[in-house]
Amino acid sequence: MFCFDEVREWPQERLEHLVKLGILQVGPFAEKVTCDACGKGHWEQVRWESSVRDTLGKRAYIQCMEEGPVHVPEIRLWQWIVDASAMAKRLAAAMDLSGTVEEVLAGMMWKLGRRRLAGRFRDVFLAMAASGEEARIADAAGRSLTTRDGVLFVVQLPKQDGLDRLTVFDVAQVVELGADGLTVDLDYIEDALPRDRAIKEDRIRSLPVPEGITWPEITLEPGESSLRVFARGQSWEIDPEDAGFADSRRKTGEGDKSYQILRFFALRRGRLPMEEVKVKDPKTRADGFRKQISNLRKRLGNLLAAEGESIRWDADEEAYTCCFKIRRAGYMNLPLPSDGSWMSYQIIERGDGRIAVGVKANRLRRTKEARTGETNAAEHQETLWHEYSLVDLGLARDVDRLLPEGRALVDLLQAGGRLARRGDDIAVLKLNQWLRDQTGLAGDPLQFSETTRVWAATFDCSSERRR
Ligand SMILES: [Zn+2]
Repeated sequence: MFCFDEVREWPQERLEHLVKLGILQVGPFAEKVTCDACGKGHWEQVRWESSVRDTLGKRAYIQCMEEGPVHVPEIRLWQWIVDASAMAKRLAAAMDLSGTVEEVLAGMMWKLGRRRLAGRFRDVFLAMAASGEEARIADAAGRSLTTRDGVLFVVQLPKQDGLDRLTVFDVAQVVELGADGLTVDLDYIEDALPRDRAIKEDRIRSLPVPEGITWPEITLEPGESSLRVFARGQSWEIDPEDAGFADSRRKTGEGDKSYQILRFFALRRGRLPMEEVKVKDPKTRADGFRKQISNLRKRLGNLLAAEGESIRWDADEEAYTCCFKIRRAGYMNLPLPSDGSWMSYQIIERGDGRIAVGVKANRLRRTKEARTGETNAAEHQETLWHEYSLVDLGLARDVDRLLPEGRALVDLLQAGGRLARRGDDIAVLKLNQWLRDQTGLAGDPLQFSETTRVWAATFDCSSERRR
């Protein structure tokens, strides 16, 4: 409650504004007032005497030891009461809070709603209580907090602690009366809120992978702006930031270091010898990289509740190996052929338009002889087949829209490995580069003959599609 003697110090328009907002309401006449007749400022009880000269029909007096009865003009008895529930509603609106305003402690404390502040959702409270009520406030907050911690606005800073889940702000420090109503200094509040490591983990979406799944059952495909996850026939595509790989508190570089390493793993087919890490970035030190790997493990663990180890350190070979499968987005990621040449590849257009890629690779096969129980290991060659859609391969925008290099591949397959196009045909040159990138093999998969003026594939091409 504010008395006239306080309010008279304010700019007139400020009082009017607060009344208009409903935050201040005109209250009953004051029952006590300070004496302004003798200069001693003593505090006296008001008494009323009837008076026909006044519109109220009565007149207010106080008793002064020096001046006797002193008349108090009506205006000095005016008071304004703070309507806390109106203030709560105005604050909630000013902060764009969601939810409804609730009175959680009668006449004393309000839950204003919630919003994302400094990286996570927090409940916001307003307490209009004198100090000494901390225990009741903490108790009420504890009962109505739906977030891990919250924000508490007070009109008087609490003396004792006990509000550990709440960050306390003096309303006067963070709220201003602007031309359009109340404004709340959200930047100041966000800066003061606790920002621990756990905040980031809070924002991370964990994927609903089947319970008991192990890392080897998971495939990751980290693309530039999306991370695809495959597990037991299901797949998800998520924003790396939602997956917890970008740290929005840091502008660039450091924050998404984990994701860069994940993509580096994809490029290196899931295996990073320290030697290669040093080649890529000579400044990298082994202990620094170990820390980054440990960060990456943590982030992967938050995203996927899979059992076992996600990235293994092989001390003998000084290399990190992913225990999950990892591949570059839009890449075939085929095993290298045993002879390291394009001749070992076979590409077929299936009847349904999918692309089958076969590669001859050496495999070690163990056989156990039933009679003697002896095991024999023998290397043999087999063709491994993988199938892809042209969209998966990055050769088509969607089912019906082939990119020029995708068109060139399909034409090549349908023509049995020959293409009558110019030597500087951009689409063919692009396809050539694309094929080289897929495998990392040296040598051109497509070669142009100056004599026949035809492009010829050095791998086996065919199509099962009837036209
Ligand atoms: Zn006096």
